[in-house]
Amino acid sequence: MPKKEKVRFGSAGIPLQCKGSSLDAIECSRELGLRAMELEFVRGVKLKEENARLLKPAAKEADVSLSSHAPYWVNCCSADLEKRETSKRNIFAAAQASSWAGARVAVFHPGYYQKKTPKECFILAKETLEATLDSMEKHKVEGVKLGAETVGKKSQYGSLDECIELQQKIDGVMLVFDFAHLHARGDWPFKTEKDYSSLFSKVEKELPGYLKDFHAHFSCINYSDKGELNHLPLEGKNQPPYKPLMKVLAENGYGGTIISESPKLEYDAVKMRKEYLKHL
Ligand SMILES: [Zn+2]
Repeated sequence: MPKKEKVRFGSAGIPLQCKGSSLDAIECSRELGLRAMELEFVRGVKLKEENARLLKPAAKEADVSLSSHAPYWVNCCSADLEKRETSKRNIFAAAQASSWAGARVAVFHPGYYQKKTPKECFILAKETLEATLDSMEKHKVEGVKLGAETVGKKSQYGSLDECIELQQKIDGVMLVFDFAHLHARGDWPFKTEKDYSSLFSKVEKELPGYLKDFHAHFSCINYSDKGELNHLPLEGKNQPPYKPLMKVLAENGYGGTIISESPKLEYDAVKMRKEYLKHL
């Protein structure tokens, strides 16, 4: 008997071949065999409450799990208090819209070093995130975690170990893998199945239970010695390779969500799912 399909695949934003709003895109994703979708708030949280609230029952009905991506200009560890306040406001707004929409995680990029040590960044980021979580509690923003995404540039705070630490030390924050960023930043270059397996063994040890319901982004990527340049589709010799990842996920029965951030969005999400199903 084939194993259960425990990984959901979806696109970052409305699939290219779907017309209309996020609400229409839920049904459209389902028709494509995709059971997840990330709401893109990367250029500001513009989703209105009344529209967000329509997404929750529709997503539940279609069995499409929603998540969101907070604005790009977040910097939780800026030395500038005003920038940290702006970060709080933006992450809070993303979390609130997520909660209305029934999205389980609001993903954010932790910040930038800007001459600070990793330890100094951690202290500032912790303060910013805890204050955000406090106001979420005060305003009854429920059912949504803040997702610390592994970043793609060496100048950014948010390596694999730093994101693991944020989850370990702040209740309400979870690690989000961006496999392309891990590869481009040099945190964890991927070539073979073994590279993926060893990443998962480390995470299983440091964050017990995480691999039952992880959240991740995948695409191929173009990069320099400073890290990320731009995301690429899953074709030809583009890196990192997706096929060994699909095999490792299926064979180990890991559960979670993979959002395609490829320029081909859902076409590559469908491609990943097809490969994943081969190994169940
Ligand atoms: Zn991101």
